[in-house]
Amino acid sequence: MAVLRRGLFVALHHALRQGRSSVCHPSLPAALLGPCRTKKTWPVSFSQEEIRKRLTPIQYHVTQERGTESAFRGEFTHHKDDGTYACVVCGASLFSSKTKFDSGSGWPSFFDLVKEESITLSDDFSYGMHRVETTCSQCGAHLGHLFDDGPKPTGKRYCINSASLAFQSKDTASSTSSSTATGEAASSSVSNGKTEF
Ligand SMILES: [Zn+2]
Repeated sequence: MAVLRRGLFVALHHALRQGRSSVCHPSLPAALLGPCRTKKTWPVSFSQEEIRKRLTPIQYHVTQERGTESAFRGEFTHHKDDGTYACVVCGASLFSSKTKFDSGSGWPSFFDLVKEESITLSDDFSYGMHRVETTCSQCGAHLGHLFDDGPKPTGKRYCINSASLAFQSKDTASSTSSSTATGEAASSSVSNGKTEF
């Protein structure tokens, strides 16, 4: 019996290890996944009507429906200006341009947060694998995922959709008119129809 249990444990352990791959490109359509987010309340909330009006279709899809923009199509993938990246929905500061790096994944990547508590982490078992989902702690907007293959000193890689972010340039930090995705970029991402991440 003990041997049998141990065998089971080893098999489980092995399965878990397999599941911990940091693949960023599953090719299953999101439609197969179904809704799996548990209802949770966040400190800041907006009416769906207001958000739909304010955000572009891809911004809405990514932040409210846990969607993913196509790789290399987001406006901030190769963005190198100095400033802060905020949540496109509620404006909370999330990442500094100082922690942005080129991961080659096709999505904006950061190795650290502006504030530890600005992002909420949760397990995501979609696409048949285990990933860590990153969500804005203020409004619950889906941002992307966190992987542990980032550069030093943190070793973390926050793989974030451009559509979840609004960039606030260092030069215009006092301005409230943060940049948002262009309609052209958004519609081309949507029409692409891919939900890779
Ligand atoms: Zn937010």
